Amino acid sequence: MSERLVGIDVGGTKMLAVAIDRSRPSEVLAIQSRPTPSTAKAVVEAVSDLAREMELEGHLGVGLAGLVADGEVLRSAPNLQCMIDVPVRTLLVEDLGCSVVIDNDATCALLAEMTVGVARGVDDVVLVTLGTGIGGGVAIDGSVRRGAHGFAGEPGHMCLDPNGPRCVCGRNGCWERYASGAGVVWLAQQRGVNIDHNGQAITAEALATMARAGDADSLAIWGEFADWLALGLANLADVLDPELFVVGGGLVDVSDLYIDRTRERFVESVLGGRARTRTRIEPALSGSSAGAIGAALLN
Ligand SMILES: [Zn+2]
Repeated sequence: MSERLVGIDVGGTKMLAVAIDRSRPSEVLAIQSRPTPSTAKAVVEAVSDLAREMELEGHLGVGLAGLVADGEVLRSAPNLQCMIDVPVRTLLVEDLGCSVVIDNDATCALLAEMTVGVARGVDDVVLVTLGTGIGGGVAIDGSVRRGAHGFAGEPGHMCLDPNGPRCVCGRNGCWERYASGAGVVWLAQQRGVNIDHNGQAITAEALATMARAGDADSLAIWGEFADWLALGLANLADVLDPELFVVGGGLVDVSDLYIDRTRERFVESVLGGRARTRTRIEPALSGSSAGAIGAALLN
């Protein structure tokens, strides 16, 4: 029997909604995105609007950047400051009059990849979402691990350099200062690349377009990005030794620009790299929709 499921991924920059059928979750029936508003009230309204546009029937799944425990957001991510201490789930239930399940956005992406994606049948998986920041999800022995408070899997704030650039979390040199959408922009600025060919402030998308056109600076910036990405993955592998790293989030759409070098540098960076013959680094099969698909699968 078919059952329409709707999931919405609320990121720091953009919101993505999908509708899928429970019996064929790998097939996306409808998809829509819009920018993330800057106030909590507007975010809740926009999520409700998107849910209605997706012809929500039964229940809504929402993936949100932040620390989620017991079905409510305890602390939203620094990239989503406006949602701090906002009971998103309660507000959405009031607005939509249906059941709503909330989980961390990267955990949702991990669920999607374990159900219909590249991590199907793999027991030890670490997923990182490269978006405005870096999110993460960890599965060990086939089950998603959430830690003592439900806060496990926030690798974006691993410190790689205490003297590095200031992070949105208030500390310095976090991994996501280098290997995220904001990170690649910072790397560009360090090379004096501040604007794109149209005179607009440089973005990850513009850097991807420029690299594809053969721009030497942009290619070098994505190379440096790959080095930082590999360094963080190596740190995670030193602790968790997963069989598979899945790279998801918005920047997975341009993974051809950095994934090969990331694989090479990972082997060089991690302890016993050449002996870790089973560890693979793969782009999320659901691409940047993984978070929304995983949110739809929450119940
Ligand atoms: Zn940080």
